[in-house]
Amino acid sequence: MFVPPNECLQPHDAVDVHMHTLASDGDWTPQELVDHLAEREFRVIAVCDHDTMRSVDEVIERAQPRGMIVVPGIEVTTEWDRRQWHLLVYNVDMELPRSQRFRQLITEQDDNLRAAAERAIELVENQGKQLKSLDEVVAGRPLLPVHVLRTLIKDGHATNLMTAHRLVINAGEDLKVDTPLDVTVAAAREAGGICIVAHPGRDDGGGLMSEEQLDRMLKIAAIDGLEGHYRSYSDTDTTKYRSMAIDRGLVVSCGSDSHAPGHPVNPKPHAARWVAPFLRRLGFSVEPFRGASWTPGAPDAAEIKASLPEKHVTVSDTAAGVLQPLRARS
Ligand SMILES: [Zn+2]
Ligand SMILES: [Zn+2]
Repeated sequence: MFVPPNECLQPHDAVDVHMHTLASDGDWTPQELVDHLAEREFRVIAVCDHDTMRSVDEVIERAQPRGMIVVPGIEVTTEWDRRQWHLLVYNVDMELPRSQRFRQLITEQDDNLRAAAERAIELVENQGKQLKSLDEVVAGRPLLPVHVLRTLIKDGHATNLMTAHRLVINAGEDLKVDTPLDVTVAAAREAGGICIVAHPGRDDGGGLMSEEQLDRMLKIAAIDGLEGHYRSYSDTDTTKYRSMAIDRGLVVSCGSDSHAPGHPVNPKPHAARWVAPFLRRLGFSVEPFRGASWTPGAPDAAEIKASLPEKHVTVSDTAAGVLQPLRARS
């Protein structure tokens, strides 16, 4: 297990379990990201690169000596109900025999991404558009569709990711690589993974997740929770997605989806109490606390710490029942 036995978090410990590195479309190196998080006293972190766990081992290696606990994570591109859904999967040890099906699914997804990128290169070059900066953009990493799009921009064939994507689509490659949601969730759960629907309240063209849609989704895939705290949410959005999850016995997770320093945002110090049932599902315990887990306007971990008289606070309130009890998995 990655969580040390009896690891107990304070309610105000800083948590961000959705960040990207240069293993996918982020620009954080594991070293830069860990330095940034350690300086700000984060306690529980996870990188969830798109369809790969390539950065996870290095992040663990660098973060552990600095007092942070790294949850292994990945953001899998899935398809259901005629649109893509990003599925965050936590806690999978790819080395274990039970992870065989999930490992195979990710390997296939990885191969398909590379094949789509190679087809895109051939098609745009056939149109006479040379990708001179491709090697520079790829920088020794495995080739991904996003590298082709960035090269198209860098070499002056497109102005942004959307127009670059449009250009590739018009050339005959839509770059859509995904795995059915139900297949992904089944394989992830077999591997011991915890499955969270990423940013249900971010509209990427397919609309926001509705209650009716979540109920239908739960009939075909045993997801564990929703990302209820996200960089682009208002407090109203967070209230809505927290309720949608909690009303159905699902857990709530939190993520900044930071891809690079300040881009689109820096990692965010969500307070452990906001997502205590999720953290317990991962194997942590969280010190009991008074009051609701989260309310609109609740201070984040950094704001709580700044308001404390001393750096280390003993929690005197041990009243039972203040933590949301986890309901049994269906
Ligand atoms: Zn995403
Ligand atoms: Zn993401």
